[in-house]
Amino acid sequence: MSRVTEVRKRGRAVFVLLMGSALAISVGCRMAEMSPPPSHAMVKRAQMHMGTLATLTAVAPTDGLAQEAVSAGFKEIRRLEGLWSTWMPKSELSRINAAAGRERLAVSSETMVLLVRALEAAQMTDGAFNIAMGPVVEAWNISKDSRIPNAQELEHLRPLLDVSAIQLNEQDQTVYLVKPGMRIDVGGIGKGYAADLVAEVMRRHGATGGVVALAGDIKTFGDLPGGTGFPIGIQHPRRSGVVLARLVLRDEAISTAGDYERYFEQDGVVYHHILDPHTLQPARLCQSVTIVAKEGVWADGLDTGIFVLGPERGMALIEALPDVEGVIVDADGKVLVSSGLQGRLQREP
Ligand code: ADP
Ligand code: MG
Repeated sequence: MSRVTEVRKRGRAVFVLLMGSALAISVGCRMAEMSPPPSHAMVKRAQMHMGTLATLTAVAPTDGLAQEAVSAGFKEIRRLEGLWSTWMPKSELSRINAAAGRERLAVSSETMVLLVRALEAAQMTDGAFNIAMGPVVEAWNISKDSRIPNAQELEHLRPLLDVSAIQLNEQDQTVYLVKPGMRIDVGGIGKGYAADLVAEVMRRHGATGGVVALAGDIKTFGDLPGGTGFPIGIQHPRRSGVVLARLVLRDEAISTAGDYERYFEQDGVVYHHILDPHTLQPARLCQSVTIVAKEGVWADGLDTGIFVLGPERGMALIEALPDVEGVIVDADGKVLVSSGLQGRLQREP
């Protein structure tokens, strides 16, 4: 058997917040460089959470309020991580998975909404987005000890990828995975929904504007001081650190699924972390998919499924959905831009 020659995990900051380079590098301290008007303060802090860099930016009438909003935001991230982390054996998601085939469990309203949205995303993408992929995601185990699982091993797992065996009861707020061995993986949608909830907490704590960036899952609300929305850069999928295009977001979320984010190479072939539920192999039709939506749960929930659907079906879906826009880089590097972003998106040369 051929050897895995390379395991890489590139920086997962898919988006570059373009608020001046001085701001972009000020981690863990207050960003004074933008010199907001005296009536506004802006605070930006970054910490590691959810296995990635979480960067929170808050604009508020006073420095104290902005600091408080950011602190409350990080507290909310930690709370949500405690619900959805599959690394924590006591998280709600871990308990749901451990109870597969055995027991129906009561869950929090946040987990219920996340799972309902995930099943809606599955329906919208014709099954390309599938949170029951947990066992296959684990078999590939792209981030560590990477190897190509053998086809037989993968086929054996196929019956577990059945989203209809995820039973959600919204009335009594319970979840039951019907088949023993099933495992839910919310890696393709959880950070987007978390960004929505964190933004709401920051707003409640007095932020008039802000950005929640959980690696490439970004939610913005309100404005920068001066009322300009938030300028965001989309990462080029083949040129590390290079911006493919820029746009300004106002009360919108943006999320990118890319084949360059987490992968290993074997015999010159790249195996990445977005898996096609039909082939059980890495999806091959796109290099990256960026979705802009009102809510992070849709931006994140749709980028992964649309990546699997590919440029043609994916762009048709984007055009059919209200309040959803997107940029797809196909397997050949061709850039497709949805109609609602034409004129808004500034392509880099
Ligand atoms: P990230 O922002 O963390 O890169 P993405 O939104 O790109 O996440 O989703 C990738 C993650 O989603 C994978 O790491 C895996 O956990 C999960 N995943 C992979 N394939 C699918 C799929 N077809 N449907 C749903 N989730 C998937
Ligand atoms: Mg996603």
